[in-house]
Amino acid sequence: MTDSLARELACIDCGTVHPLGYRLECEKCRGLLELRYDLDVLRARGPALLAGGGLWRYAPVLPIADPAHRVTLGEGGTPLLDCPRLAKVLGVRSLAVKFEGANPTGTVKDRSSATGVAAALQFGFTATSVVSSGNAGSSIAAYSARAGLRSLIFAYARASAPKLLHMAATTADLVLYEGVYDDLITHWDRLVESRLFFDCGASRNAYKHEGKKTIGYEIAEQSGWRPPDVVVAPVAVGETFIAAARGFREMRDAGWIPRVPRMVAAQATRANAISRAFRSGRPLEPLKIGYTVAEGLAAGNPGRKGEWVLRLLRDGRGAAGDAEDEQILEAQRTLARTEGIWAGPTGVATLAVLGKMLAAEELDPAQSYCAIVSETGLKTEAAPPSRAATAFDFDSLERLVEQRLARA
Ligand SMILES: [Zn+2]
Repeated sequence: MTDSLARELACIDCGTVHPLGYRLECEKCRGLLELRYDLDVLRARGPALLAGGGLWRYAPVLPIADPAHRVTLGEGGTPLLDCPRLAKVLGVRSLAVKFEGANPTGTVKDRSSATGVAAALQFGFTATSVVSSGNAGSSIAAYSARAGLRSLIFAYARASAPKLLHMAATTADLVLYEGVYDDLITHWDRLVESRLFFDCGASRNAYKHEGKKTIGYEIAEQSGWRPPDVVVAPVAVGETFIAAARGFREMRDAGWIPRVPRMVAAQATRANAISRAFRSGRPLEPLKIGYTVAEGLAAGNPGRKGEWVLRLLRDGRGAAGDAEDEQILEAQRTLARTEGIWAGPTGVATLAVLGKMLAAEELDPAQSYCAIVSETGLKTEAAPPSRAATAFDFDSLERLVEQRLARA
């Protein structure tokens, strides 16, 4: 078993350092906190520190000290799939998809649920809670059940039926909320202070957030510690983006990788507060948003994490873009047909944005790309294709097979 090298929490705004504990913001300035590790050990021992498979392979760079708290359903270790046919369609030299739909509940959220629920155990909580558009709720409910904790899940009433079924199966306390995520999250965030439950939200909890850092570590390790030139990450509130960027920075500082990839933030046009602010060079302004097929990206007010994403984009010569719902659905079909990867609309927004930015010559086609595809398509709800059926005898079957295979 490997030890955690987490040493302290540091404020991303004023730099004040706090001891490890369940603390959601800076005591001095209320800034967000990030975890810091013993970089000397990371530098000295290198990737030889890592042991085992899946998410907990990266336990040295995660903040869960006691191995008994490291809850797992087999998350992490998702494939990094080279996609030559899709690269050709998009007109880039090289494209890999980091397919997060392969996680236990079909989403990248399982990474943060693992460390979030583990931290709930670490700090002695008996209940968790989250406000979710669907994926986070089903993931936190599953991990809480796995850890023997209660979970109070607030879910978007328009979440897909498969996600609602999954949540209802894994928690006894599922509550549907009216309106969108933004309408409830401010009240819920205030209630977190009461410590009635462990904060499994995306706004502030550094311990939960940290699990997603492993996506950066995996992309680097699966690329032989030479990550692609550009990584495209989805952004709702910014958890996956920030965590992946932090992971790359940490590896560079420890000398594990030669340089950090350029990060591109991908949003849905119907919820594009960060992309809009970045592209216009203006401050972040919350948006009043409605429905987008990319349910998991439906946050109009990304709050302080949104500011953090903007800072990372501006400091790190990043880029941002957004795609319309129709472009996202088109990307979903293209990915399925060209590479056999069935992802949900939230998951393929990165590819839709990548395609759009390449077409507009905002990105260099000669570079190597990795797009994070954050969810499976198996939890998407949509009308099935035609159910018109045919009765066959041998001759009609043979005729059909010959005709079909003769088509160009
Ligand atoms: Zn501070």
